[in-house]
Amino acid sequence: MWIDKLKDVSFDGRMMHNMSLASLSYLNIGGVAKVVCYPLHVEDLSNILNFCFCFNVPVLVLGNASNTLLSDAGWSGVVISLKHFLTKITVENDSIEILGDIRLEKLLAIASKNNIAGFEFLTAIPGVVMASINGNAGAEKCSISDLLMEYKYMDIQGCSHSVSKKDILCSYRKGPLQTFGIIYSACLKGEMSQKDLIQKSVKEKWEYRRNRQPISERSLGCVFKNATDYCAGQLIEHAGLKKKSVGDVAVSDIHANFFVNNGRGKSIDFLNLIEEVRYCVQNKFGVFLELEIKKVGD
Ligand SMILES: Cc1cc2nc3c(=O)[nH]c(=O)nc-3n(C[C@H](O)[C@H](O)[C@H](O)COP(=O)(O)OP(=O)(O)OC[C@H]3O[C@@H](n4cnc5c(N)ncnc54)[C@H](O)[C@@H]3O)c2cc1C
Repeated sequence: MWIDKLKDVSFDGRMMHNMSLASLSYLNIGGVAKVVCYPLHVEDLSNILNFCFCFNVPVLVLGNASNTLLSDAGWSGVVISLKHFLTKITVENDSIEILGDIRLEKLLAIASKNNIAGFEFLTAIPGVVMASINGNAGAEKCSISDLLMEYKYMDIQGCSHSVSKKDILCSYRKGPLQTFGIIYSACLKGEMSQKDLIQKSVKEKWEYRRNRQPISERSLGCVFKNATDYCAGQLIEHAGLKKKSVGDVAVSDIHANFFVNNGRGKSIDFLNLIEEVRYCVQNKFGVFLELEIKKVGD
C-alpha cells in the first residue's frame, strides 16, 4: 500500500495524516484527507509528485481553498499545500518575482510599498497567488494573467518547466495550465506609480466590496459565472432566491451569487443549493448557470 511507502520519500516538510480538509478551506467545509503534504522547497515538491506518479496516488493541490468546494467524503490521496514553502520575493523596478506562495493581500501590499500599480483589482480576493494564476482570478475586466510575465510549474511526474509571456495563454477564469501542474513561482509586472494613488484605489475597492459582498462571511466568492448577456447574481435575486438555504448553507442576502456557510454547512448542502438555484433560474429565465467554483474530492 502506498501509504506505507510514504516514509521512504525524501521530504523535509511536514506530512499530516487523516487531516480535516475543513481546516484548509476558507469555507470551512470538507471531509478528511488521507495525507496532507507541506513541501518546503522545490526538491520536496518534486519528490512527493514523483512518488504519487509512481504509485498512482491521486494528487490535489490547494491554496486557500476560497474557490474550491471540498467534498464531505474528503480525499483518499495526497493533498499538497504550499503554505510552508520557503518563499523568496524579489522586486525589480515594476516587477515582482515570487518563489513559493503568498496571499494576494500580501502581494498587493508589496506592490503598493514599491509604488507598483496594476494589482489593485485583486483587493479583497482571499486567495493565494499561485492558485489565483491557476484560476486566472480577476475583477473589473482585469485578470491576473494580464500581469503575468513568466511562471514555473511542476508536472505530474515532478519535472519543472518554465513558461514565458509569449507562450502563456489564458482566458476568463481559466489559467495557463492545460493539464495537471503545480505552479510554484511567478513573475508579475505592473507599472510604476505613486503609493498614495495606489492606496487610495485599494481603499475605494475595499469600501466597494464591503458594501456589496459578504466579505466577512465564509463563502467561495461567485458560485456561477457571469456571461456577456446576464449577471448570475441578478438572475438569482430576481428569481426570489436571496436567503434561500439548504442545511446551514444559504444564498447571501448581500450578493445572491455568493453562498455562505452559516456554521455547520456541508458540501452536500452547498451542492443541493446549487441544484435548486439552477432549477429555479432555468425555469424562470431559461438560463443554465455555469459553475465558477471548482468541486473536488472523492
Ligand atoms: C469574498 C470572496 C471574494 C472573491 N472575489 C473574487 C473575485 O473578485 N475574482 C475572482 O476571480 N475570484 C474571487 N473569489 C474566489 C477566490 O478567492 C479566487 O478565485 C482565488 O484566486 C482562489 O485562490 P485560492 O488560493 O483560494 O485557490 P484554491 O481554491 O485553493 O484553488 C483554486 C484552484 O487552483 C488549484 N491550485 C491551487 N494551488 C495551485 C498551484 N500552486 N498550482 C496550480 N493549481 C493550483 C486548485 O486545485 C483549484 O483547482 C472570491 C472569494 C471570496 C470568498
